[in-house]
Amino acid sequence: MLSRRTILGMLVFALVTSAGPRAQQALPTVVVLATGGTIAGAAGSDVQAAYKSGQVGVDQLLAAVPQAKKVATLRGEQISNIGSQDMNDEVWLKLAKRVNELAAMPDVAGIVITHGTDTIEETAYFLNLVVKSRKPVVLTASMRPSTALSADGPLNFFNAVAIAANKDAAGRGVLVVLNDWIHGASTLTKTSTTAVQTFLSPVRGLIGTVAYGEAEFYHGPVGRNTVNSEFSLDGITTLPRVDIIMAHENMDGALINAAAAAGAKGLVIAGVGNGNMTQAAVAALAAQSKKGVVSVRSSRVLTGRVGRNVELNDDELGFVASLEHNPQKARVLLRLALTKTTDLKQIQRYFDEY
Ligand code: ASP
Repeated sequence: MLSRRTILGMLVFALVTSAGPRAQQALPTVVVLATGGTIAGAAGSDVQAAYKSGQVGVDQLLAAVPQAKKVATLRGEQISNIGSQDMNDEVWLKLAKRVNELAAMPDVAGIVITHGTDTIEETAYFLNLVVKSRKPVVLTASMRPSTALSADGPLNFFNAVAIAANKDAAGRGVLVVLNDWIHGASTLTKTSTTAVQTFLSPVRGLIGTVAYGEAEFYHGPVGRNTVNSEFSLDGITTLPRVDIIMAHENMDGALINAAAAAGAKGLVIAGVGNGNMTQAAVAALAAQSKKGVVSVRSSRVLTGRVGRNVELNDDELGFVASLEHNPQKARVLLRLALTKTTDLKQIQRYFDEY
């Protein structure tokens, strides 16, 4: 017969040996890739509008939000430290490669990318098309620098880590978490230069919401993405040049021709209304299209589709209609499309499906 004390001792031993490692294993590993932006920005005082993006390194960023360590085991890597107005192909290719490497590691549950708000929608959409994983890849940012009164970065970061660690976030494409809202990469856009509530996903709506790490998911992503995307960066070291030109009253063809002369393989027109432009611009664009410059009609209007063959006959003119893609997203998709083909029917299909 075992004594009471022996049984108690065995129970305590069993608890210690099983709970210890299990407690450690319970937290998923999230890797934080820092690229810069206002979330890593600093000002001279906490009530000053002027500040510099990309001043704080990833270690300081992690140290500033110790609460995030309660939802995930965190590792940080510095990819760049720039304002996202300076985002460029070199950083994009490095970032996408690293995200794909990390996502393939069995011990990594999710990835958080800190970024500036100015071009976060472009980077998110680019990754949405070239990351080959269902694991959560979550971008976050802030509108106020880390030194500001009521800085929004710490809670955005905490929420982003919680979403990256959340199994229910998997398979929803690349996500962007800001101000308690979870956006899909294909739908979000920046709508205010300074307001904290700047990001919207017009027409299509949110993927979900998050309150202090607690998520509610409403929808899946819009458009093909990640593991269902045909695009890949395998063997790609450069991306083709695509320029965006905004339409306006009295527009002529000068900038269209200049962009083509500068080496653009594709052009996106941020058209008026339903992707319209002056007859002079249409003529210049159609001439460039005949020469092989792939021309996409998008819109400078915040919401709505640019439909094919509405006021302009895209079939005759050799244009692609951007459908729901705003000019900056259309440019990302067209650049990747041009790594595969210049066939207009196929490129129109990409705009339909992604
Ligand atoms: N210019 C900054 C950036 O995009 C703005 C921000 O992060 O909010 O890096």
